[in-house]
Amino acid sequence: MFKIDSYDFKGKRAIIRVDFNVPLDDKGQVTDDTRIRAAIPTIRKVLDAGGSVILMSHLGRPKKNNDMKYSLGQIVPAIEKLLGKPVIFAGDCMGEKAAETARNLKPGEVMLLENLRFYAEEEGKPRGLAEDASEEEKAAAKKAVKASQKEFVKRLASYADCYINDAFGTAHRKHASTYLIAKHFPNDKMFGYLMEKEVKAIENVLQNAQHPFTAIIGGSKVSSKLGVIKNLLDKVDNLIIGGGMGYTFIKAQGGHIGKSLHEDELMPDALEIMKEAKEKGVNLSLSVATVSGQEFSNDTPRKTFDIFNIPDDWEGMDASEASLENWKKIILASKTILWNGPVGVFELPNFAHGTEKIAEFVAEATQNGAYSLVGGGDSVAAVTKLGFADKVSYVSTGGGAMLEAIEGKDLPGIAAIRE
Ligand code: AMP
Repeated sequence: MFKIDSYDFKGKRAIIRVDFNVPLDDKGQVTDDTRIRAAIPTIRKVLDAGGSVILMSHLGRPKKNNDMKYSLGQIVPAIEKLLGKPVIFAGDCMGEKAAETARNLKPGEVMLLENLRFYAEEEGKPRGLAEDASEEEKAAAKKAVKASQKEFVKRLASYADCYINDAFGTAHRKHASTYLIAKHFPNDKMFGYLMEKEVKAIENVLQNAQHPFTAIIGGSKVSSKLGVIKNLLDKVDNLIIGGGMGYTFIKAQGGHIGKSLHEDELMPDALEIMKEAKEKGVNLSLSVATVSGQEFSNDTPRKTFDIFNIPDDWEGMDASEASLENWKKIILASKTILWNGPVGVFELPNFAHGTEKIAEFVAEATQNGAYSLVGGGDSVAAVTKLGFADKVSYVSTGGGAMLEAIEGKDLPGIAAIRE
């Protein structure tokens, strides 16, 4: 495996898998260019070292070829602006024109392929199957797309001399451009700078954590983070569980949670997690009291209740001062912090206080020398919205990919480069 910094790009064409799945307005203008910005250092590195660049990405979830609402052609001006040079748009990712443009690419030039997901082969899943298709028909369609996927990958690989994966947002997908293509470059594949940073952040918390290690897990549902919590129980010293998911733990212990969010069917899992935490010596810290509302709106009246005694017509919506006091002590004494998920309904300003305070504590701990990683799902939106993104050690760009990494799963996009 090569490092991007030690590879010789002179006269080489690099095909880079980027995550340019950016939001567009109804005129096709990019409304948030964070993801393009994140890939610029890698693109510049190849160009400055005398190579040329072929960019490939998906955009949205098109169901067929040529659905122009999802054309990457729309984002060319945004890339050109950030890169400060022209970008040649290939108009397709297959076809003679794409191949010819790649062949004729000169050092210092950049081309962009059309949306990879215009082709079912990118994901390797059959399309257009009738709802009532039989099992045999489904199997035949799957076999057909897998067969044509090989040609798709071969074709993409033929455009370039080396492959760079810089798309952490899709690292948990075993797709043509994130996984299969790497096999065509056994000696010429590497991570881009963004991927290198994400991989390092994962290693910093999951393999090389300094102790005490604290994970703060919030968000809405236990069910979506069960794997995350279970994997962390073997690694952390403190596990703070807040937000909507906390109420399932309280109800499972016989608490009265009013109309707070909860999942009855997850109560046995919650009790099992509590038991396991005890056995493993993990300090599991739940809320002790909650700021509640009478309905799910910003202007609903607010009242704080003991977490085990929330009245029937109230629902817990934010962390209370008492809970935050406990969590502050834990967070400030930590050397490694992983934060995933808000501890309240942070989208409603009147219930954002708890999440804001957590961001503040994590920032303070970081300033005191702790390593802090914020990632997965909504937590990035929370720290960004609350203005703390540059006060923590690392904010991950990949929600789903980071969650799967924290669950302990091998991400195909990372494995393919390391294999
Ligand atoms: P997740 O995507 O699982 O990280 O969940 C994030 C969502 O959890 C956000 O939209 C929050 O509004 C929501 N959330 C956090 N705490 C609560 C709560 N006490 N009640 C309802 N929703 C919550």
